[in-house]
Amino acid sequence: MSKYQVDKNGFYGEFGGAYVPEILYKCVHDLQDAYLPIIESEEFKQEYHALLKDYVGRPSPLYFARRMSKQYGCQLYLKREDLNHTGAHKINNTIGQILLAKKMGKTRIIAETGAGQHGVATATVCALMDMKCEVFMGATDVERQHTNVERMKMLGAEVHPVRTGNMTLSDACSEAIRDWCCHPADTFYIVGSTMGPHPYPDLVARMQSVISEEIKWQLEAQIGRDYPDYLIACIGGGSNAAGTIYHYMDDERVKIVLAEAGGHGWDTDYTAATIHRGTTGILHGAKMLVMQDEDGQIQEAFTISAGLDYPGVGPMHCNMAKQGRTQVLSINDDEAIYGGYELTRMEGIIPAIESAHAIAALKKLKFQPDDVVVLTVSGRGDKDVETYLKNKQMAKEYGNF
Ligand SMILES: *Cc1c(COP(=O)(O)O)cnc(C)c1O
Repeated sequence: MSKYQVDKNGFYGEFGGAYVPEILYKCVHDLQDAYLPIIESEEFKQEYHALLKDYVGRPSPLYFARRMSKQYGCQLYLKREDLNHTGAHKINNTIGQILLAKKMGKTRIIAETGAGQHGVATATVCALMDMKCEVFMGATDVERQHTNVERMKMLGAEVHPVRTGNMTLSDACSEAIRDWCCHPADTFYIVGSTMGPHPYPDLVARMQSVISEEIKWQLEAQIGRDYPDYLIACIGGGSNAAGTIYHYMDDERVKIVLAEAGGHGWDTDYTAATIHRGTTGILHGAKMLVMQDEDGQIQEAFTISAGLDYPGVGPMHCNMAKQGRTQVLSINDDEAIYGGYELTRMEGIIPAIESAHAIAALKKLKFQPDDVVVLTVSGRGDKDVETYLKNKQMAKEYGNF
């Protein structure tokens, strides 16, 4: 029996559950009853894996990074989710959820998005499956992430700017839930990370678990052993991290290190380091660690990375961190910028600024020379080139690029 998997009531230890308004009870219960029989059926698995292979381009390579291995005194392998169609791991999840939505007879798709990556991944599969798609996005993000808004529109999605609160990701989630309340019968809400009411955290983790399923056989083929000594991933809501660790959660030979976004520092007011800073609360349908003030008002998350800009973190990760199964590091903006430049110059791979947080974690760990380290590059950095160039001086403290 796994110590870290969801229980039958949707809890990971004290975290998780399904705290939804009464009008969504039936809808959420229907999904709780339907998701496992459907995603474990042979028909679903065949369609899902065929699309992952021919549409997404899986398996993603497990690449031995020779120069970076030398730099950090370990055997470093990069799991290349950046090479997926649409440029990140998010499409693994949206492909799975849209197949589920179709099999449940839903006709309209809604999604929330922050940086726009999940919005694009959702609009993409909606075009593929000929489904109506509406995306909620904070008005601030609509301005900041203009290119992704244009991509979503080109793909046929309708983008709704959200003007409540800080007008960012957290407000977009609230608005998507509000819309869902108005159209519970025909609408499927495609959640973008391991968050939301049960069963979403488990559903998203399972859809992303293809990452560690592949790591297992790829390591076996490359080094003759199907587990690493370390797994490293960045963590926002927690979906690429969940996928990376899924098949190793209970394997205590494997150390798990997660990198959350420290912003200016986890002990400042400008941070998104939820596991360092959060306290238990309920946000977007689940009990989790949340950055909030004494009155339970949600505090705005701050980080250079739009994809990690969320004041909560998925319940699976809250529990694993609390149990001491994962080591969570807070990586500041300047450290992430340096990590991004380092991977670019040493391996010729420009990582997403989110993934650069995971790269920066390498500096904070002490390895033995034969330690096998698998680090997930969750996305590509094309979208972040401007941010890297604009903030180049931040990396100066650590080295010269
Ligand atoms: C969205 C995103 C993340 C953060 O989301 P998780 O659910 O924590 O994985 C990380 N990296 C990239 C490239 C993203 O687009």
